Amino acid sequence: MALAERSVKSARRLPAARHPREFYVKRVAEIMAVRKRGGVPLALVRTYGCQQNVSDSEKLKGLLAQMGFSFTDDAERADFILFNTCAVRGHAENRVFGNVGALKDLKRRHPSLIVAVCGCMMEEKSASQRIESKFPFVSLVFGTHVLHRFPQLLWTVLTDSRRVFERGDEQEDAHIVEGLPVRRGGRVKAFVTAMYGCNNFCSYCIVPYVRGRERSREPDAVLREFRGLVQAGYKDITLLGQNVNSYGKNLREPVSFSALLRRLDAVEGDYRLRFMTSHPKDATRELIDTIAAGRHLCRHLHLPVQSGSDRVLRAMNRGYTREKYLAFVEYARKKIPGLSLTSDIIVGFPGETEEEFRETLDLIRRVKFTSLFTFIYSPREGTRAAALPDPVPAEEKTRRLQRLCAEQEKIAAARCAGEVGRTYRVLVEGRNPRTGLLCGRTEGNEIVNFPGGDGLLGRFAQVRVVSAQGWVLRGEAVPDR
Ligand code: SF4
Repeated sequence: MALAERSVKSARRLPAARHPREFYVKRVAEIMAVRKRGGVPLALVRTYGCQQNVSDSEKLKGLLAQMGFSFTDDAERADFILFNTCAVRGHAENRVFGNVGALKDLKRRHPSLIVAVCGCMMEEKSASQRIESKFPFVSLVFGTHVLHRFPQLLWTVLTDSRRVFERGDEQEDAHIVEGLPVRRGGRVKAFVTAMYGCNNFCSYCIVPYVRGRERSREPDAVLREFRGLVQAGYKDITLLGQNVNSYGKNLREPVSFSALLRRLDAVEGDYRLRFMTSHPKDATRELIDTIAAGRHLCRHLHLPVQSGSDRVLRAMNRGYTREKYLAFVEYARKKIPGLSLTSDIIVGFPGETEEEFRETLDLIRRVKFTSLFTFIYSPREGTRAAALPDPVPAEEKTRRLQRLCAEQEKIAAARCAGEVGRTYRVLVEGRNPRTGLLCGRTEGNEIVNFPGGDGLLGRFAQVRVVSAQGWVLRGEAVPDR
């Protein structure tokens, strides 16, 4: 019987799984084969937010593939639709509610369609309650801590007449489940999670509440996955963690992040190694020395500064000062010539004055970041900053964001103009559909477009920069030296 025809109860906590994951994987595959009368069930997985969510979706897709699903981008053809959500900004949350709501009519026309919502947002009580009450056609809701139990949860939806809402508990938060299948998004770039969660409680950030405390994977497990990717031919591998350079502190035998990087860098092969996101308070000189000495480590550091004002940094609970940040950048630039620095900046933090905003503008002029991710402060329920008085009007925050972006554009344009005539080793990631040019990325994460044949796709190429239009580089392939 189709789910929509059943009387639906809610299940808030499921009993612990009575069978291993493989049992549920097999059962779901059998049930879906019967429902599809031998045809292949199709899943649509939509991902919001950061690379960690992209990486989680790759695991969910791996599990779906084990359960016999193929994938589609067409909601009309899907038997199962999963939204993997992000809780970091209110705007992203509203988009999720809008997109889930838009499925109401589809569910009416295809009653057997199963709609599920998972991810960080579903670890927030208010968001999961809203899904429960406003969208009765959503059958399955689960949080980040129970991702490994997805087959059991889906099996319960398919076999029992109830909606399932599962957020896991603290015990589940304490250990990391290894060995989940991964269906990667491509054959050139890949993510490897080094650690989960965050202990920092920056006053504006919801992540520690929805992703839990820091848990690091054993270095051998990271190394195994990493080596497998290099051997499979992946060329650009990014180590992930909400606070990746705090890696290893909570292991039984603590290992520093730099030590982990050195172990990975020793793997033979033709590839690049990146990592994100690093916290300035955990950025050590040892880390810089490790990048400087590395064979595969990109000369690129994403180091979110968030603000150039000490008062705002204190209110954000960031744990460093502007001077410390600038001193670290100076050391890093001295040790690694050509280092590319990128960053995140929040404007309009509660109570940010014009003077404090100007300190941020001054900081970006000094550092000359390659690129910036810029955001207007978004209050998150339950965080400390959400309770602060915020007298700055929304229009003023928008103006500050525009001023910040305009300043960064000038900086990026000047830097790009200085790149003309230089030759870079770029990894060719694809073709620009508008211009037909190949798109390559330098180790500093800058994009260079250049003419060339399909044989270069997914490979490294030497490219000389011939012109810069704003922050877009244009180049030509030159022979390997
Ligand atoms: S370091 Fe701060 S901003 Fe980053 S995830 Fe942790 S709490 Fe959030």
